[in-house]
This record gives sequence, C-alpha cells and structure tokens, in this order.
Amino acid sequence: DQAIKASYTDELTGVANRRFVMARVEDMLASVRHGSSGCLAVFDIDNFKRINDRLGHHAGDLVLRDFAHRIHQNVRRNDCFGRVGGEEFLLVMPATGPEDALAMVERMLTVIRFSRPLPDSPDFSYTCSAGIAGCLPTDSASELYRRADQALYDAKMSGRDRVRAA
Ligand code: GH3
Ligand code: MG
Ligand code: MG
Repeated sequence: DQAIKASYTDELTGVANRRFVMARVEDMLASVRHGSSGCLAVFDIDNFKRINDRLGHHAGDLVLRDFAHRIHQNVRRNDCFGRVGGEEFLLVMPATGPEDALAMVERMLTVIRFSRPLPDSPDFSYTCSAGIAGCLPTDSASELYRRADQALYDAKMSGRDRVRAA
C-alpha cells in the first residue's frame, strides 16, 4: 500500500504528484468530450527564488509545504490538486465553469496572502499567481495546459499576486 501511495504522492508536500494530476486532467478532458465542463488552474509562487536566496532552501521548503497544505484544505471533493514542478501546482476542476473556478482561485490566493509560514520570521508572508483555462471538447492536455500557462504569464506580467483567465 505504501509503494502505491508513494507512486502518486509528491514527497516534499504530500499532495498528488505530476503523474497523478496529469491523469486527472485526461479524465476531465474525457468527460468534457461527453458534454461536461471543466477548468484547469496553474499556480506558481511569486519570487520564490528570492525566498530561497534570502532565507535559505529550508525556508523555501517550508513555504512549499505551507502552500500545498493550505490550498489542499480548500479543494473540493471532486477536484484534484497536485505539484507538477518546483513551485508550480495544478488544480483540476471537473464540471466547473470559468466563473466558479475564478472565484475559488481568488479565495485561495487570499488564504495564501494571509499565511505566515515561518516561525523564525513571523512577519514573513508570500504570494502566488494563477492562470485558469476552461476545457474545450477538442483540447489535448498539452493545449489546455498551454492556455492556462499563458494566463499565468499574464498574471505575472500584470504584477503577480493575482489570477487571470485565458
Ligand atoms: P516568478 O515570480 O516569476 O515565478 O519568480 P520565481 O523566483 O518564483 O521563479 P523562478 O523560476 O526564477 O525560481 C523558482 C525557484 O524555485 C528556483 C529553484 O531553485 C526553486 N526550487 C525548485 N524546487 C524547489 C524545492 O523543492 N525546494 C526549494 N526550496 N526551492 C525549489
Ligand atoms: Mg515557476
Ligand atoms: Mg515562481
């Protein structure tokens, strides 16, 4: 059982890993081809390199765990949240339209804004940016991801600590 769990869990944060979350993206796209809706959100922590550089890699790891834990607590039962790379995460939202997805991600960014994850630096706070794309029946996973990533890029370029929809 432990080996199976390890195969779909991200070791540092305990949330789903890239392989698991990408499989849920494929599931969502299959349901969209049968007439359902769905959205994908990409999250990326802001200025994370600076957090590592100023406070050390251990503090960076604490921030990653704090982020994963807080978002995970706000994920609905049928959604899937996972870590896909260093400080990049995906939220898969089947049967969800863009307005609901946007409202949910806005709430998550607010939760992160108020977090104070470092006991040794009690005033330290951090933010993240997000991009959302709604599924089209003709989408491949990479096409959907590309649009969400483009929206994330727009959020970064508009000043960070915000969400943009494709
Ligand atoms: P932006 O706001 O544009 O996203 O800037 P950024 O600094 O967050 O982005 P960048 O991609 O330059 O830096 C990401 C950093 O994340 C660089 C890398 O060293 C660090 N990183 C990746 N994985 C881990 C990890 O597991 N732990 C820690 N502590 N750092 C990590
Ligand atoms: Mg990044
Ligand atoms: Mg970043």
